[in-house]
Amino acid sequence: MTTTLEAPTQRTASASNEGLNSAVQPKLTPQNSDRLAMGLLVIQPSPFCNINCDYCYLPNRTDTRRMDHAVLEKVMDKVWDSGLVLSPFSLLWHAGEPLAVPISWYEKAFEIINRYPKAKDYVIHSVQTNGTLINDKWCEFLNKHEVEVGLSVDGPREIHDHHRKTRKGEGTFDKTMRGMECLKKNNVPFGVVSVISDVSVDHPDEMYDFYREHGITGIGFNIEEVEGANETSSLGKDGGLDRIRAFLKQFYLRNKADGFPLNVREFQNAERNILEPGWCSRPDGGYYNQEADPFGMVNVDCFGNFSSFSPELLGQSTEKYESFTFGNLLSGSLFDATVNGAFQHVLADIEAGNQKCSETCQFYKYCGGASPSNKYYENGTFDSTETHQCRSTVMMPMEIILEDLENDLGITETVSPLIEMPKPPGV
Ligand code: SF4
Repeated sequence: MTTTLEAPTQRTASASNEGLNSAVQPKLTPQNSDRLAMGLLVIQPSPFCNINCDYCYLPNRTDTRRMDHAVLEKVMDKVWDSGLVLSPFSLLWHAGEPLAVPISWYEKAFEIINRYPKAKDYVIHSVQTNGTLINDKWCEFLNKHEVEVGLSVDGPREIHDHHRKTRKGEGTFDKTMRGMECLKKNNVPFGVVSVISDVSVDHPDEMYDFYREHGITGIGFNIEEVEGANETSSLGKDGGLDRIRAFLKQFYLRNKADGFPLNVREFQNAERNILEPGWCSRPDGGYYNQEADPFGMVNVDCFGNFSSFSPELLGQSTEKYESFTFGNLLSGSLFDATVNGAFQHVLADIEAGNQKCSETCQFYKYCGGASPSNKYYENGTFDSTETHQCRSTVMMPMEIILEDLENDLGITETVSPLIEMPKPPGV
């Protein structure tokens, strides 16, 4: 999952003792019953999106139905009663365009959420938005509630408009940039998430210059993934990984040459993994991967249906696992999922895949098995290891930084100057 700008929530050994209530947590399996805590709650206020990007993984993005506030209240009841709320966690409004739902809906929703004990301290609100609907009123709301904003921008106009279009097929660059300028004018902090596809991967310099010209300092790269309704990736062909590596390396070196003015999520995580071992450890010493922990992420659609593990699984169909919907919070609790056959099957396969990762991959202690949804969509099963996604978001950034450190320290003979970009296929 690289949907948002977020780095994994850091947890400490003491976090597990800070529950909001003393609800007894049912056992899942001997392997995981001691580590349950929620790091991210994704709530889909509506599946609807006002634009129509051609790489989008969401299947129902023309559906305009909206979560009823009574449903939200039930969801919050179940989450708060679960005993999973152990420390501050992110509540991400996502899985559709969240700002297509009116501000008045959110005013009521935030009022409901803030009724829960400690909610003001524990809930860190964030939105992932395409930016096209941002105006002064939205900025006022976002500032008032200190909502963290992730803006989806793919780069300069010709790159952004290639995939990010309206339903009429028009580019959305102007509207998105207007939204970005509105955020800046109103002093709303934001970060940018850019999908790197075949139209941008060979242009790291143009991408770097774009961020610098527009004063963008926080960036996350989502390398185009095979996921959900997006059944192929433009970078899945031969040579795709070489092009991604060349992109990342050139971008890193440009940033380095300027004194690292840009904070790139993938490189920041990699640097922390190298320089601060244990920064993302669970109490048992393993790497905290909230996508692989049952209920580390809880993902709820606008009808109260929920899944866990990678948010991209919410609402997706699957034959192999029967369903990625593990229950409905209107009629049951989160822990009802633990007796659900589909949940048990998914969990068993995720753990089996992670076991293989731990036995075969030197990066396991820096990723905890990475994204289950990418394993499923790329390899056909959670019980698997390497994916394009983990190559490009875990391995490559660490390799690039390590190589650079070794060069700086003079402990390698391979001096790596600014590299030559490989030619795009067919050139
Ligand atoms: S980098 Fe990929 S193959 Fe290696 S441990 Fe992580 S998920 Fe598994």
